[in-house]
Amino acid sequence: MCIFCKIVNGEIPNQTVLEDENFLAFNDINPARKIHVLVIPKEHYDSFDVVPPKIMADMTEFIQKTVSKLGIRESGYRLITNIGSDGGQEVPHLHFHIIGGEPAGKLVR
Ligand code: ADP
Repeated sequence: MCIFCKIVNGEIPNQTVLEDENFLAFNDINPARKIHVLVIPKEHYDSFDVVPPKIMADMTEFIQKTVSKLGIRESGYRLITNIGSDGGQEVPHLHFHIIGGEPAGKLVR
């Protein structure tokens, strides 16, 4: 079972920010910025590349609610999902990174 499925079923603890029947938002264990939250569907999908668009519609709403709860709608934030090896995806369970609380900086190298 993948590490995020283990978080969903309670085998691995997490710091929950928001949860509903289908989605979970929790603090990243190795935060890149002051605020770094991961949002996952409870059902396993390997990545954004294979998630059904209807689930993404619900996930979009859940991400927006998470951002509101974090209080960073006004200040802004970065939303990232990594896909596959060139995308830099390390955990093969769809997740969005919400990064904020301070300027994210440029994406370009
Ligand atoms: P990357 O590590 O390159 O950002 P991913 O997009 O796959 O690759 O992100 C995986 C994220 O999951 C990382 O930010 C990592 O810190 C986080 N992470 C790994 N294990 C846990 C855990 N048990 N609890 C919370 N976050 C975790």
